[in-house]
Amino acid sequence: MYNVALVTEEKCVAKKGCRLCIMYCPEANTLDLDTEKMIAEVIIDRCKGCELCKVVCDAAKHEAIEMVAVNSDGTLMEKAGESAELGQAYSG
Ligand code: SF4
Ligand code: SF4
Repeated sequence: MYNVALVTEEKCVAKKGCRLCIMYCPEANTLDLDTEKMIAEVIIDRCKGCELCKVVCDAAKHEAIEMVAVNSDGTLMEKAGESAELGQAYSG
């Protein structure tokens, strides 16, 4: 079990020029700009879950990044805000 970063499209202000998370991510080719949607995008297979992107995004008050648990089969758990369901998934 480990966590990866996930960008919430509606909250990301990359279209206004923000690149904070992209600049701070220490992993090469892991957080980049989706130039079609103009949002930051995490390549989840490469994300190490260090949370640096979330820290800088939160510090800038954008709060567009959540850490999401990855199941053993590689699928993502439900996004945060549904912590009760997360708890149930853990017990299963
Ligand atoms: S720091 Fe946050 S708002 Fe800025 S580009 Fe990254 S995800 Fe988007
Ligand atoms: S959690 Fe760390 S490795 Fe993953 S995208 Fe964010 S800064 Fe990069």
